[in-house]
Amino acid sequence: MPIISFFFIIFEPMVKSINWKKSIFLVYYFLVICPFIRSQSLPIIQNQANWQQEVDYTIDVKLDVQRGMLLGYEEFVYTNHSPQTLHEIYIHLWPNAYKNNKTALVQQELENKNTNLYFAEKRERAWIDSLKPSINGKSVELIFDEHIDYAKISLPEPLLPGQQMVFASPFRVKIPTKVFSRMGYEDSIFCITQWYPKPAVYDVNGWNPMPYLDQGEFYSEFGRFNVSIEVPKEFVVAATGVLQNKVELNWLNEKTANQKIENPETNAYKKLTFTQDRIHDFAWFASKKFKVAKSKVALPSGKEVETWIYAQKSSKESLETGLSYANEAVEFYSKKVGEYPYAIASVVITPLEAGGGMEYPTITNCQSIDKTTIVHEIGHNWFYGILGSNERNYPWMDESINTYYENRNDNQLAKASKDLNKSKELNLNLNSINSASFLYKWIARKNNDQAGNLNSTAYTDMNYGGIVYAKNPLSFAYLEAYMGTDNFDKMMQAYFQKWKFKHPLPNDFFTHLYSNGKDSLQWFEKELLNGTSKQDIAIKGNQKSLKIYNKGNAKLPMPLCLKNGDSTLETLWFKDNTNLKWTDFKSWESLKDVTKDSINVSIELKNAPLDLYPQNNRLFYARKNKHLEFTPFFNFENNQSKAIFWMPLYAWNTYNRSMLGLTFYNSILPENKNEINFTPLYSFHSNTLNGYLDLKHRFYPNHPRFKNIALGLKMKSYGHNDISENNAAAQYSKFEPYIEAEIKPNNARSNIYQKLTASWALLNNNMLGYHFLNWNSKSMGLVHLNYTYERNVCFYPVKAQIDYQYNTNKGNINKLGLSIEQGIEFEKRKKTIKLRFFGGMSFQQLNNNDMSAQTAYFMAGATTGTNDYLFDESLMGRSETAVQNGNIFSKQIMLNEAAFRANAFLGSSDKWMTALNVTLPLPKIKLPIGLYFDMNYAPLKQTEIATNTTSYHNQLNYVGGVYFSIYKDIFAIYFPVETLCSNELRNYWNLNKQSAFFEKANFVLNLKEINPLKFIRNFTIN
Ligand SMILES: [Zn+2]
Repeated sequence: MPIISFFFIIFEPMVKSINWKKSIFLVYYFLVICPFIRSQSLPIIQNQANWQQEVDYTIDVKLDVQRGMLLGYEEFVYTNHSPQTLHEIYIHLWPNAYKNNKTALVQQELENKNTNLYFAEKRERAWIDSLKPSINGKSVELIFDEHIDYAKISLPEPLLPGQQMVFASPFRVKIPTKVFSRMGYEDSIFCITQWYPKPAVYDVNGWNPMPYLDQGEFYSEFGRFNVSIEVPKEFVVAATGVLQNKVELNWLNEKTANQKIENPETNAYKKLTFTQDRIHDFAWFASKKFKVAKSKVALPSGKEVETWIYAQKSSKESLETGLSYANEAVEFYSKKVGEYPYAIASVVITPLEAGGGMEYPTITNCQSIDKTTIVHEIGHNWFYGILGSNERNYPWMDESINTYYENRNDNQLAKASKDLNKSKELNLNLNSINSASFLYKWIARKNNDQAGNLNSTAYTDMNYGGIVYAKNPLSFAYLEAYMGTDNFDKMMQAYFQKWKFKHPLPNDFFTHLYSNGKDSLQWFEKELLNGTSKQDIAIKGNQKSLKIYNKGNAKLPMPLCLKNGDSTLETLWFKDNTNLKWTDFKSWESLKDVTKDSINVSIELKNAPLDLYPQNNRLFYARKNKHLEFTPFFNFENNQSKAIFWMPLYAWNTYNRSMLGLTFYNSILPENKNEINFTPLYSFHSNTLNGYLDLKHRFYPNHPRFKNIALGLKMKSYGHNDISENNAAAQYSKFEPYIEAEIKPNNARSNIYQKLTASWALLNNNMLGYHFLNWNSKSMGLVHLNYTYERNVCFYPVKAQIDYQYNTNKGNINKLGLSIEQGIEFEKRKKTIKLRFFGGMSFQQLNNNDMSAQTAYFMAGATTGTNDYLFDESLMGRSETAVQNGNIFSKQIMLNEAAFRANAFLGSSDKWMTALNVTLPLPKIKLPIGLYFDMNYAPLKQTEIATNTTSYHNQLNYVGGVYFSIYKDIFAIYFPVETLCSNELRNYWNLNKQSAFFEKANFVLNLKEINPLKFIRNFTIN
């Protein structure tokens, strides 16, 4: 009771003390003013300087297999080629990212809802220690600020331009006992990456230190590496660079020829040295079980590159297949981008948590021998490796450009025909789907997309894939189509030659791009990379004229292809909404003798992958386009026409009994601007037409505060009781137009979700004097406003709602409710304690004789089907009550307002109510069983019918018991325990002769949540 009183003490004055003028200003401020206030930060120079620092390493490292440690000694010579005098240097100590739960890595993993590292034990973690750094022989100190995975060193003497200094330090690295991200020991492979002390890049923008992250890669100085690795003799080591030991090389060569050669079983160690010039990182992988294969590939210049593959479990054939992918990649990128400058390219198959593959100079690690992954990772040598752009800040300069080339290398024809065969079997439109385009549309149609030029850390988990790896590569393909493949390739080759080993920045790319084309190509940067503007082109017209419309907000040159069937004859590009004629195409003449039926124009860049709504992209010369297709069950969206899907449906409720009908729906994935779901159902028992209709139109405002606004209409009609005036089923119908707005979070990675909904529901019923809120009429209108807030974070998720309802017919409902639920996750987030507070106020006390509105009071006991006066829930027996002891649905309760989990009428209040609900899953058992406790406190209303007088008395009700739940909040059974209940509840059970344990039980079945369409549409990767 003290808690409840306390809550009410806070709640009531809060409502009374609202300063409306101030509130309106605050709303105005957050919606209108605040978005324009931008934080000030120093401008970043986006053109690289003409100098590069140089770091030449000599590292000796020993793998201590027993203790899972690296014992190392490192020296690097740092050459200051910059015109500035350096007074400090930043050193990365990335193994420390795994050391404790405060690191940037753990924080990012938690935001992405990955708790593996968070819950890791100390013995599984990693760190770097035993450092005794010196510069030019003078010992120096590591100075840490907020991150433990990099440190600053103040130089004992300033390093003048052109001068060198020598950094030296021993170090010891504890290796993680599994691969949490990129480094670790797993599956008997040591994956040694991001492991040694390494200076940050000093460039035109100054120092670039960065904590280690999983989502977001690296930026490092070029130099020479000379690394000696000591491992037990039975290990095979795959590493960056060229192996210098003849004996070892001979042994590996023998292994490539004869897989059965045994590794020497001895405790003795061997020392292997690898060297490589002009690289910026060094990674190595060691296992006793590596099988080895090698091959070579000749480049156009005649130069030969050796390719190696290391894997534990693969057959000789699959190793050779892997090598053929590696050869293909080295050759493809050398031809398209620029010659591979190194003598060796290796692939190693390892467990990896950071995606399917990871690139290191001259060596690539992949999870499996998969062509796309191997080609992609080897391709990184050109962008991540040789150009060496800052991947953390500008993932598009590496991941996106590389993925664009990887897509180009994928043999499109072979892939399409394979998919086509598959799709014929399943009758799916897979052949028209470009997976990158599909992913982009999925995100962009929901307005969840982000700009293409952001820092890796700014992307949501989903967008890191959907923008960096899907949209941006499509943008480069758009540029290629516009420039022509030859011009594009020449431009990229020149860029590569100009900037290799020089860390180009974004403007270096754009300056180069603009100097190359005759046209202004600025649209590429402005419309495709820098923002989230969207493309939607449409063609309309007839045999005389054509018009090409830009319906989206992206101002891009628009392509139009003249086609004979599916083969393109000519492509013209347009800037704006343009009128033209068929004869404007030069190749029109060549179509004289062609059957006119097959001639069409189409906006088609490999299925218009950036066009959000491609169904209006094609126009036939002599026949009409098929605009709508009826398809049973499900299909992927088709680029040519819109689809309505349908399937037969069976439904049941207590009053209409069995119903048969059809359900029609237009979109599954990706989401559509207009959504329709129509489900007519006929009942042969009540001879009524039932069912529902949902229509929704989404607006995609370019608004700083709203992500999405939708207008919708919900209609439904079902039986709600067995009797009516005419002895037929009592039917209700609901007509509810609504508007909903999803508020855009300040930061796309925010886990906060906020939605505002306003609706007006018109409810009708053919049964006079039933439980509608207007006793003397068969209809009522109800205004419903709702604000939902969710903070979907690990460990302490929050859900809150403010809900206001007003009956426009009679004013007899005028109430406000606030609920806040705090979750506390435990047992590695598998279980959640829930604490829920509710406070409700009614601004209208009711007439004594207005019995009808009773169902809308704040209920001290359970809220059941009869209290669902909004007909919001999907209930199978909404009028069954415990007193009637009808069917099983009399035991069904709803968890809104006070959310009392015992089905009993304990009185109700039209003044105010506060409630507390506690849900406590039992620890240490697998079954979803727990304890619950609910209480509420309110002035309950008592009406003496004889004297027609009303009084209120404050009453506390409570119930406690045991629950069993299946799948989150969708289904749960509650068993109250009598000793934990208030007297009023016990009296109620006695009076209604409900004494057995199971008679008191009740359940929640949240059918509204089991909507597969909603589930699919709302699915996100997290
Ligand atoms: Zn990549």
